[in-house]
Amino acid sequence: MSQAEEVILRGLPISKGIGIGSPVFFFNADDEIPEISIAKKEVEKEVQRYRRALFLSRQDVEGLQKMSLNEGPPEIVAILGTHLEMLQDPLITTVIEDKIRQLQRNTESIVHHLIEEYKLKFSTLQDHYFQERVRDLIDVSRRILGHLRPLDKVKWVDIPHHSVILAHELVPSETIEASSTQVSAFVTSAGGITSHAAIIARAKGIPYVANVDIKLLKRIEMQSMIVDGSQGLVIMNPQRSTLKKYQEIKKGHLEKFRLISHSSHLRGETVDGFEVRLFANLENPKEVDSLVKNGAEGVGLFRSEYLFLSKKMFPSEEEQFQIYRRMAKNLKGRPLVIRIFDIGGDKKIDVLPDSPDAWYFQTIGTEANPALGCRAIRFLLRYPNLLHSQLRAILRASVFGEVQILVPMVSDISELRIVREKTREIREELEKEGIETAPISIGCMIEVPSSAIICDALVQESDFVSIGTNDLVQYVLAADRSNPAVSDLYFATHPSILRLIHMIVTSANRFCKPVIVCGESAADPMMVPVLLGLGIREFSVSARHIPLVKHTIRKWRILEACRLAEQALEYTVAHDLRQFLSAATDAIV
Ligand code: PEP
Ligand code: MG
Repeated sequence: MSQAEEVILRGLPISKGIGIGSPVFFFNADDEIPEISIAKKEVEKEVQRYRRALFLSRQDVEGLQKMSLNEGPPEIVAILGTHLEMLQDPLITTVIEDKIRQLQRNTESIVHHLIEEYKLKFSTLQDHYFQERVRDLIDVSRRILGHLRPLDKVKWVDIPHHSVILAHELVPSETIEASSTQVSAFVTSAGGITSHAAIIARAKGIPYVANVDIKLLKRIEMQSMIVDGSQGLVIMNPQRSTLKKYQEIKKGHLEKFRLISHSSHLRGETVDGFEVRLFANLENPKEVDSLVKNGAEGVGLFRSEYLFLSKKMFPSEEEQFQIYRRMAKNLKGRPLVIRIFDIGGDKKIDVLPDSPDAWYFQTIGTEANPALGCRAIRFLLRYPNLLHSQLRAILRASVFGEVQILVPMVSDISELRIVREKTREIREELEKEGIETAPISIGCMIEVPSSAIICDALVQESDFVSIGTNDLVQYVLAADRSNPAVSDLYFATHPSILRLIHMIVTSANRFCKPVIVCGESAADPMMVPVLLGLGIREFSVSARHIPLVKHTIRKWRILEACRLAEQALEYTVAHDLRQFLSAATDAIV
């Protein structure tokens, strides 16, 4: 049998490491729709299949409408009304039925083509009304398609071991389900360095390369592939010599990781004895047990929205309470910082249309700029019932450990004040019910330029602040963290970011408030010394990265780090600063 040709593609390196395995194409909901011809005698059956999908879609919308009449904001009721009208419109009913009969093709492809036609037709019209109608149409058609092809998606449990997952895009709820024993690597067309899917891949140690044309890969016949997540290479049908080379590199990485892991039990301190505290970022509550083994002093960031993302439904107050209580107890007095739901942005909502939670997302699901839209605290203030049940669950769990609240995406002090006021009210409510609570710190995430600029005022109203560099970089540099096309513009080693961190630390120190960095840059060996020099003494990173960060910190003296930060702050050009930091940190580590 002749060996297929080796093909190498270059993409964007997202998560380091070498993955070797067999390709598995993973489809997204809107991915290519198959075009299938229908025999003439089967056409009426196809029309019936379409009618059934329409019927189920109407049922969904009516159900959602009923529910939102009682609890939802009026704009949701109006939108659902429009969707219901659309589902009865001749465009959706008779036109599509006629086309099925006329073209004798599967319904999915006809619905898809019709929508594409409309998108094209209206794309040049700036009129807001038309733009909205096209969005409604897309929404309605997705619902119909969902009922036509409910089983199309590959399920994680069915994926064989040593698979390389190839997809147009991955959402965090998907990467969180992947296990590193099954998945050797991810390769996608879309996705940026600090997109949430990428953060999860790194936390799990799964190599990941983005910005690769998946459609092109589909055309290449391949049995095996290598993903080099450090260099951003994807190698299809590797030759024996290439395979051998990468197996050696992989072995070397594992050995290095093993050696560094040995320092995880050592104290987090600089050479000259300055204490640095290392905490873990967590998405999965079950991982609490393994944190301490990795040398974490507690949980610096629990991304609680993953409770929702993995379940595709909001957990009830009771479910949340059980989870938070278990985590607090297992941490045995170590801090547990629960960030209240950071829903929206690139944490895409993949709610099932028949889920009772679907109506929450009718408006935000169609936002043109979700990262600048109804995300995190904005979302929670819009749906106070969600905030209320989450705060109740957290306060109930507070007596079982050292629980703290963290508020994401704060862009104005009023948001923080509301959370503080609600926490106070809920505490009283619980006391009246005879439920005990403990004092709780409320921290503010600084990840939006406005909050960084007013940090002197914010720190006074917060018990602690947490710098979320992933979003801070995205919003300050106006470079989408998920978009590979602007990945060359997105990096934390930008003079503006260092200056902002300097400002925040100075304000926090002035008011004696703890400040922690919880973005991915806290685990970047090039950033760690400069953060140290800027005055950061608390880092929160994926548990897997704690040994590496500790290893880096233990190589520096505080004075050297301060000198490094001072020099770094002098730079005004991003490229020069990067070169400086790269040379300075390489010299020591
Ligand atoms: C951040 O923005 O840096 C952060 C830690 O939050 P997330 O990555 O979950 O948005
Ligand atoms: Mg963030």
